[in-house]
Amino acid sequence: MIGIRNPAQLQKMREAGALLREVLERVRGEVAPGVTTRHLDQLAERLIRKNGAAPSFLHYNGFPASLCTSVDDQVVHGIPGDTILREGQILSVDGGLVLDGWQADSAFTVGVGKISAKARALIEATERSFYEGIAMAREGNRLSDIGHAVQSYVERLGLAPVRALCGHGIGRRLHEEPEVPNYGEPGRGVRLRAGMTLAVEPMIVTGDWPVHRLRDGWTMVTDDGGLCAHYEHTIAITAGGADPEILTLPGITLAQAVQALKAIEAPEASRAAEDLEASLEVSAL
Ligand code: MG
Ligand code: MG
Repeated sequence: MIGIRNPAQLQKMREAGALLREVLERVRGEVAPGVTTRHLDQLAERLIRKNGAAPSFLHYNGFPASLCTSVDDQVVHGIPGDTILREGQILSVDGGLVLDGWQADSAFTVGVGKISAKARALIEATERSFYEGIAMAREGNRLSDIGHAVQSYVERLGLAPVRALCGHGIGRRLHEEPEVPNYGEPGRGVRLRAGMTLAVEPMIVTGDWPVHRLRDGWTMVTDDGGLCAHYEHTIAITAGGADPEILTLPGITLAQAVQALKAIEAPEASRAAEDLEASLEVSAL
């Protein structure tokens, strides 16, 4: 059964979402060459507990940390530890917390120092695909409209959504019904209703979509070694087909989030063009 949240429950999830946003922004600010993934994990756990919440991932099916930290071809569920981040890598950070009985779940991918234009483009496309997906997360639409929008967007760019892993309903438990795939035909699955709360989380790869688990029992990596980026927010379906509310992006509307992403993309695009010109000049010598 898919839960429908009443206004009081939504308010609890909003509070959990706002705290998670704060924690993940602090973590993002610490990402730099030379930093260990354990440092990021410890920071997140400290901030979560200091604010009266608990990390949802810690001990979840035996997971040993509060964040998942996944580097380059790692898709999700990377275990924080002695890994030292190096310039040029991309790092996916996934975090979850429970505050007063209600869950929030969110993830982002960030470059470590200066990264390639290809990696930058992957990160931006992944974020954009999330917004393409949740633009369809409206009352009256069907569940698969979300994944169809994600897939259509990234495939136009020559990228692919990972198929073996998906988003999920979220509420009192971290993972609830329904599963939210990042691909598929439109117009399938349950009809979306106001008060449904979902964690939408495209995992997008530069190569092919098959993935496998490493021997640590957790870390998922791409079979072909292609890069993966991940972007996730907890959202709530609103009444009357209006934009969904992004609970882990408090105070920011869907339109504002898309606008902010465009503003980031434009200078990056021109920088990528400059890089290309510079490399052409070099090859001409
Ligand atoms: Mg997550
Ligand atoms: Mg999730």
